[in-house]
Amino acid sequence: KFDRTPLIAGNWKMNMDHVQGITLLQKLAWTLSDARHDYGRVEVVVFPPFTDLRSTQTLVAGDKLKVEYGAQDLSPNDSGAFTGDISGQFLAKLGCSYVLVGHSERRSVHGESDELLNEKLKAAYRHNLVPILCVGEGLEVRQAGDHVLHTLAQVRKDLAGLNAEQVSNLVIAYEPIWAIGTGEVAGPDDAQEMCAAIRAEIADLYDDSVAAKTRLLYGGSVKAANAASILGERDVDGVLVGGASLDVGEFANIVRFEQ
Ligand code: PEP
Repeated sequence: KFDRTPLIAGNWKMNMDHVQGITLLQKLAWTLSDARHDYGRVEVVVFPPFTDLRSTQTLVAGDKLKVEYGAQDLSPNDSGAFTGDISGQFLAKLGCSYVLVGHSERRSVHGESDELLNEKLKAAYRHNLVPILCVGEGLEVRQAGDHVLHTLAQVRKDLAGLNAEQVSNLVIAYEPIWAIGTGEVAGPDDAQEMCAAIRAEIADLYDDSVAAKTRLLYGGSVKAANAASILGERDVDGVLVGGASLDVGEFANIVRFEQ
């Protein structure tokens, strides 16, 4: 497990204009730079709105902020007549390392299909962005006991045509929809059950060495109080944090989960 660098990701969603975003990042840098709390091994990534990326780039480049950043979505296309869309090549030029693909709010509010998400994953790889693919079931599917089948079907469809190298670099976030923004958190056992199932599916689709490299995250009402137990699970390599990533102290304590 510890060959895979733990990844703590903060999804700001549609919050924080660029002034608020800079303030949050400066406070985060200040909090994390406290030498008494070394979080060295952990990778920290924030996902501000598109309109904050330019100022995030300036701040991260100018500061010794050990934080990476990415976008919350990208277009499946690289350029052209796609009004309102943002291309992966623009994100790469803004210094993004990561991009979220298929967050449940994109799937439900914007009706994004697995076929579209497969195109978005390919677009991300064309521009050397590491995708964080989000998968997970809704409450009805969970109550019917079909959550593993449902989530693995998403994984298979979303990964269609990707090669072993791409999937080795991929990050997949298991985010049960019933736990997102609800305060309802899946237990560490639930997170482990699904992450183990996803890893086994990748081993099946590719091989064990690919499955050993793919990082798997849990997301859904993660806070400082529950992060360590979830991150202690064997197949959970990180967390994707929504609401709590807007609170600097809370997010910093999640980053320091090992202490
Ligand atoms: C998310 O936005 O991916 C998320 C998990 O949100 P929250 O932590 O607020 O449940």
